[in-house]
Amino acid sequence: MVIVYVLLAIVVIFGLPFIRFAVRGSLLASNNRFACPNCGHNFYGKWYQLMFASGAVNAFNFANIRCPKCKIKDSCGVIT
Ligand SMILES: [Zn+2]
Repeated sequence: MVIVYVLLAIVVIFGLPFIRFAVRGSLLASNNRFACPNCGHNFYGKWYQLMFASGAVNAFNFANIRCPKCKIKDSCGVIT
């Protein structure tokens, strides 16, 4: 049973920096302006929307997030 606690400790130790990294990445990603491909609306992404999309923002300059105007979830490109 000790192995369970060891694994749990490893998950916590390695999980916390990852969560911090994900939050910081999503906060940085929320500084970007996005363009909706459906209605053309420009908007700032919300950090909690970008929590799981910040990787795509950094690598491919788009994010699968919901447009605040037409409420359609689509791949919104970053405006540079
Ligand atoms: Zn839209």
